[in-house]
Amino acid sequence: MWDVGVSESEQSVFQKRTVCPVKPVILGFLMNRFKRTRIAPTPSGYLHLGNVLSFALTAALAKQTGAHVLLRIDDLDQARVKQNYIDDIFETLEFLKLPWDEGPRTYADYKNTYSQIHRMQLYEDALQQLRQQGHLFACECSRSVLFARHPDGVYMGTCRDKGLSLDNPGYNWRIDTSGATLPPNMQYFVVRKRDGFPAYQLASVVDDVQSGVDLIVRGEDLRESTQAQIYLAGLLGYDSFVSATFYHHVLLKGARGEKLSKSSGATSIQYLRKQGQTAEDIYQKVGQLIGISEVVSDWEQFGVNWRRYL
Ligand SMILES: [Zn+2]
Repeated sequence: MWDVGVSESEQSVFQKRTVCPVKPVILGFLMNRFKRTRIAPTPSGYLHLGNVLSFALTAALAKQTGAHVLLRIDDLDQARVKQNYIDDIFETLEFLKLPWDEGPRTYADYKNTYSQIHRMQLYEDALQQLRQQGHLFACECSRSVLFARHPDGVYMGTCRDKGLSLDNPGYNWRIDTSGATLPPNMQYFVVRKRDGFPAYQLASVVDDVQSGVDLIVRGEDLRESTQAQIYLAGLLGYDSFVSATFYHHVLLKGARGEKLSKSSGATSIQYLRKQGQTAEDIYQKVGQLIGISEVVSDWEQFGVNWRRYL
């Protein structure tokens, strides 16, 4: 059984990110139970092996800690959402027998009830709260301008003191993070995009708070997002998010050490299924990619085995 968040070796794999000041040993005891966690795929491509690792770990942790699993489809980037990607989420979860307790079961269910589009008012309320509190400034810089100024597109606060109107359509809304300790690429992060839609950081926090999520398992590529989101939750007074528990898991790498992505089709579950691979084959493949040498044939084994192998 995985006793959550205790030993050093565990920390190396699931590097814990929490702002709770309680000592780790006590945390291990207190955190044995969680209320709710979530899997939150973005329907802009087919699910791949990296998603399977994330979902399997989430499901395994949920089972061990008594948490409900919520399926949330992060579809605010509407230009990239396609119905076949949404269908793929349901088909893949069922194919892999990955359970979830709450959230949509079908495309119609998602469309009619669970799409983030139905929660726009919540995001808007949070944005207005930030605006009233004076945390926002408007930014006219395009992505290409940011990359022309900095090799990684890091935003240096160029528009902070320009006094641009937040009411001017086509501007990003950014948080004035001056004085905060955040990684460079999260300085002045965007909370509302130029198209008027809430940005990922804001929507994700609002959704997690609204649905009562207290355990978040995500890839270590989102570690910096987590820092930005905790900062944002602090501004909004979302204590439940600030005190939530975060685990950042290792990312799967391809044969040449490259990051797996939705664009590398050979790792998509849909492709592997068409090649005749079973759910067990896929779990085994994910297990091999994280260094498990024993047989891994279902998601529960990621919860049992990770302590020994990762
Ligand atoms: Zn700007």
